[in-house]
Amino acid sequence: MTEPDEIAVVGAGLAGCLLACFLARRGYPVALYERRPDPRTGRVERGRSINLALSERGLDALRRIDLDKQVMADALPMRGRMVHPVTGEPEFQPYSVTGDRAINSISRGALNNALLDAATALPRVRVAFDHRLVGLDPATGAMTFETPQGTVAASASVVLGTDGAGSAVRGQLLGHGLLTESLDFLDYGYKELTVPPRDGDFALDPAALHIWPRGTSMMIALPNPDRSFTCTLFWPTHGTESFASLGSPAAIVRHFAQHYPDVVPLAPDLVDDYQHNPVGVLGTVRCDPWQVGGTVGLLGDAAHAIVPFYGQGANCAFEDVVALDGCLDECGDDWSAALPLFQRRRQPDAEAIARMALANFVEMRDRVASPVFRARKRVEHA
Ligand code: FAD
Repeated sequence: MTEPDEIAVVGAGLAGCLLACFLARRGYPVALYERRPDPRTGRVERGRSINLALSERGLDALRRIDLDKQVMADALPMRGRMVHPVTGEPEFQPYSVTGDRAINSISRGALNNALLDAATALPRVRVAFDHRLVGLDPATGAMTFETPQGTVAASASVVLGTDGAGSAVRGQLLGHGLLTESLDFLDYGYKELTVPPRDGDFALDPAALHIWPRGTSMMIALPNPDRSFTCTLFWPTHGTESFASLGSPAAIVRHFAQHYPDVVPLAPDLVDDYQHNPVGVLGTVRCDPWQVGGTVGLLGDAAHAIVPFYGQGANCAFEDVVALDGCLDECGDDWSAALPLFQRRRQPDAEAIARMALANFVEMRDRVASPVFRARKRVEHA
C-alpha cells in the first residue's frame, strides 16, 4: 500500500499537537509547523501562564490517545465555585448536586508540553519549530515560512490551521477572498496575579475555583500543583474604573484593599505583578467557511476563538479534533467530503458556546453574588 500524502498542521498549540497525534494514528505522515521555539526548552512569558479548567469534553479526547491519566496526574479537581464577597465569609457553590463532579485545573503550558511529547514520540510526526507561516496558496497548498535561517518553502495536499485566534492560515484565506471573518473584542482585558503558597501549603481551598464577583470587574483564581494560585483579574482596559486607572503602587494597594481585601495579605507580589504583567485581550472570532476546497481547513481557536468565561476554548478545540477524526471515518478519508461535514457539524456548537461564554461573564462577575442566585443554588442542592 502506498503511504498517504503528508498533511501540514500549522500551529503546535493544544489543538495542533492533538490533531497531529490523531492523524498519525490514521496513518498520515504529519508536518507540524510552529512559529515559536520548542516550548519545552524555554521559559513561560511573564503573566501568560494561564491555567485551564479542563472538563470531560477535553478529557474524552485525551483518553482516546491514552494521555488522560498522565495529564490528570498534574491536575487539581475543582468541585465548585468559592464566591468571595467584599466582606464576610466566602460561600462554596458545588458544581453538581452530589458534589462529586469536578472540572480540573491544569497548566496550559504543561498540557501543551505533554501533547508535544506525545506527538514527537510518533515516527510519522515531524515538528518544525521557529517556522512562522507567512504565505499560503490555497489552490496548491504551497506554504511560506519565516525561520531564523530565512524564508522556507513547503507544500502539502492538505493544510490544517490550528494557529490560534490570530490565525495566519485564516488570514491567508481572507487575503485570497475565500472567507469572511468577524472579530468582536470585549472592552475588558485580563491580567494575571499570583497567590503563592503560604507556609508551604495552599493559601486558599484548592478544591474550588475562586471567584471575586464585583459587577464591573471580576477576579478568579485556580490552583497550581506547586500550591500557588494563578489569579486572573478581568477589568475594562480603558476608563476611570479600568486597568489604566491605577497609576501608582499606592493606588493599586488601595484598590485591592477596597475591592479584594482578603487577597491583599495573600499576594505579596501584588504591586509588582500588577505593574509588570501584561493586559491580555479578550474576544470572539467567527469566520465562514472553515474550509476551502476540501484541502485547507481551520480548527480550534483559528476557526472559533471565544472569551474564556465558560472555560471551554481548549475543551472545544479538543472536541474539534475528535469530530474531524469521526468525519474522516465516515467519509473514508476523503478530505473534500470530511472537511465540509466537519464544519456543518461543529459550527452550530461553536456558535452556541461562544454565546454561552459571553453570557457566563455576566453570571460570574455579577449574578453568582446575588441573593436570588444563591437562594436558587441552595434549593437545587437541598
Ligand atoms: P493556541 O493554543 O493559541 O495555539 C496556537 C499555536 O499556533 C501556538 O502554539 C502559536 O504559537 C502557533 N502559531 C500562531 N501563529 C502561527 C503561525 N503564523 N505559524 C506557525 N504557528 C503559529 N480554555 C478552556 O478550555 N478552559 C479554560 O479554563 C480556559 N481558560 C482560559 C483563560 C484565558 C485567560 C485565556 C486567554 C484562554 C483560556 N482558554 C480556556 C482558551 C484556551 O487557551 C484556547 O481555547 C486554546 O489554547 C486554543 O487552542 P488552539 O490550539 O486552537 O490555539
